Amino acid sequence: MRIGRKKIEKVRVYGDPFLSKKAEAVDAVDEKLVKFSEVLMNTMVEFDGVGLAAIQVGVKSRMIALGVPIPQDENGVPRLSSPGEALLLSRMPMVLLNPEIVSYGKELVTKDEGCLSVPDIYAPVTRPGTVVVSAQILGAESFTLECGGLLARAFQHEIDHLDGILFINRLSKDELEKIEPALGKLKRRYARLKFLRKLIRKDDEQ
Ligand SMILES: [Zn+2]
Repeated sequence: MRIGRKKIEKVRVYGDPFLSKKAEAVDAVDEKLVKFSEVLMNTMVEFDGVGLAAIQVGVKSRMIALGVPIPQDENGVPRLSSPGEALLLSRMPMVLLNPEIVSYGKELVTKDEGCLSVPDIYAPVTRPGTVVVSAQILGAESFTLECGGLLARAFQHEIDHLDGILFINRLSKDELEKIEPALGKLKRRYARLKFLRKLIRKDDEQ
């Protein structure tokens, strides 16, 4: 798919079994990977995502794109409260390879999350407010740093994708029940699309 000169990829949606696959470590950076990282980043930006994991566009590699906005105080002054935010936020959007959570902070924070693979559904997820993350920035250095704020949440959400976990898998029973009808709709939509694609393929064969 192309938008202007930018190539983007279709984002897989809830119901698609690919989303529960576990991604594999990236061990070499070659031209193909650099090209794909552009597509991953373009797709995230096009759909207004804060993050996008390779698995969401059908690639089983431990790669994520992040586009976390810089938090500001009431006077519009950037508020970078963790070393990870200080290093990374001004350089976004970016692609990170083999991101990993090294340790979790003790304090838990509950905030609404959404996901490009679970369109139009938002629900509160409780996660540690800070995490120590290690990763390699594509084309630049590796780091191991404490991250807070939305960046900490985005890392946890995206790294979950690499392990086949969606934010809806982390909801309380009550919260999950509330969105079940909407999830059912998404699942049926996926089944319908898959069926239609099969029909179209059959037509092509004749
Ligand atoms: Zn997501």
